[in-house]
Amino acid sequence: MSLTPGNGPVQISAEQIRARIVELAAKIRADYAGKEPHLICVLNGAFMFHTDLVRALDMPATIDFMQASSYGSAKQSSGEVRLVKDLSFPISDRHVIMVDDIVDTGITMNYLLHYLGGRGPASLRVAALLSKPSRRKVEVPVEYLGFTIPDAFVYGYGLDRDQMDRNMPFITSQAD
Ligand code: 5GP
Repeated sequence: MSLTPGNGPVQISAEQIRARIVELAAKIRADYAGKEPHLICVLNGAFMFHTDLVRALDMPATIDFMQASSYGSAKQSSGEVRLVKDLSFPISDRHVIMVDDIVDTGITMNYLLHYLGGRGPASLRVAALLSKPSRRKVEVPVEYLGFTIPDAFVYGYGLDRDQMDRNMPFITSQAD
């Protein structure tokens, strides 16, 4: 294993990620002025994005973590979602932003939105670093989106390739 980018269609540099997160943070700061957003990291893939987004926010905010897993192979969701780690703090009357690495079929985020929606948040929005709209099976609103990408398996910057490569500071893909 090396930290060398793959030769696939999606290549997003650490600098591009950093610049986009600054823009997303500015938008969140403006949208939530006078409020204290509660940013929930969807583990494991979103851990870097969540950290960098929260750090760039520069406003009062709180955080929490949750983890969902979908049955199936590593690259293909089966459509059945299971909660692995629940929230540590209540979200009633909170302005919640779900922070995820990538919205692919949308099945995971759709499940989480319904689950959290039933817990009485004051508002509930989604921030996702990446989206693959061509793969969508369920429509989910993504208010804060980093990058739209084509249908390619991507890894790096929190996203894994067989649990490896999460620590790469950029996002890359391998040609088939
Ligand atoms: P969805 O339920 O939207 O199909 O899938 C969401 C989850 O599948 C993501 O949070 C991520 O964990 C995983 N996933 C989807 N596409 C990719 C990809 O290209 N690379 C990696 N590493 N994970 C992906």
